[in-house]
Amino acid sequence: MNKIEREKRVVECMIKLYCKKKEHNKNLCKECREIMEYALKRLDHCKFGEDKPTCRVCPIHCYKPEMKEKIKTIMRFSGPRLIIYHPIFTINHSIRELLFTPKGRRK
Ligand SMILES: [Zn+2]
Repeated sequence: MNKIEREKRVVECMIKLYCKKKEHNKNLCKECREIMEYALKRLDHCKFGEDKPTCRVCPIHCYKPEMKEKIKTIMRFSGPRLIIYHPIFTINHSIRELLFTPKGRRK
């Protein structure tokens, strides 16, 4: 699995987890489906491709502002849970940086 594919799966998992555990939906709701499609599309169009830098730099920064806020909320909720439910995804994964970098240091 390449980097982009792996990241797609991480994003998918996070959004599903958020919708299920936070919003208590059985199936992915419309809003979450939209953000998922959006996120996957961003990854498809990521100009960095296989040289993609960490999530702290990308893809967050090419998101539209409202999508950025939403995905951040999702990542904050699902990130720590993903480590519990799917530890394999978090190995070497940079979303951790986004979650655990102290606020002041983030650009
Ligand atoms: Zn939802």
